[in-house]
Amino acid sequence: MAKLYFNYSTMNAGKSTILLQASHNYRENNMDTYLLTAQLDDRAGTGRIASRIGIGAEADMFSPTDDLFEMVSARVEQGKIACVFVDEAQFLSSEQVWQLARAVDDLKLPVLCYGLRVDFQGQLFPGSAALLALADEMREVRTICRCGRKATMVIRQDEDGNAITQGEQVQIGGNETYVSLCRRHWRESVGDLSAR
Ligand SMILES: [Zn+2]
Repeated sequence: MAKLYFNYSTMNAGKSTILLQASHNYRENNMDTYLLTAQLDDRAGTGRIASRIGIGAEADMFSPTDDLFEMVSARVEQGKIACVFVDEAQFLSSEQVWQLARAVDDLKLPVLCYGLRVDFQGQLFPGSAALLALADEMREVRTICRCGRKATMVIRQDEDGNAITQGEQVQIGGNETYVSLCRRHWRESVGDLSAR
């Protein structure tokens, strides 16, 4: 039975690497896959899913206005696919997650989404909230904090290494870096959300 999967984690856990490896495993067995990733700026054309360890693959890009059921249907008409992979799934809209759920149910295709659970302010991304609600199966891709505990949170740092607590959920092209931390060390860096 086809399912909607949500593989979630914090930053730098290796989600894209896992996605690319899984897709590769299908292709090695002569089964085609359809890769999607978020279009974060106005650059048109083909996207690419790249991992920090140096591997990558071409992917179609989705913008906030794209109907993903239509995109998957159009791809299926060009040839059989074994499953759909979605990177940067935190940037899906709630509507788009429903469209992917329709692709699972009506086209009987497994859809594997990979994304961040929470943003730098400790809030769920819209796509992740919808996936937590709708996914048939969820798996945590684990990474660790500097203390060795499981990292579940992320901070955004400026060039001097100070934690940034305000700003847009998505920052494009800045000089900020992201560091994944356990909740205790996240609170040490930015304080409790409720105290702000
Ligand atoms: Zn820690």
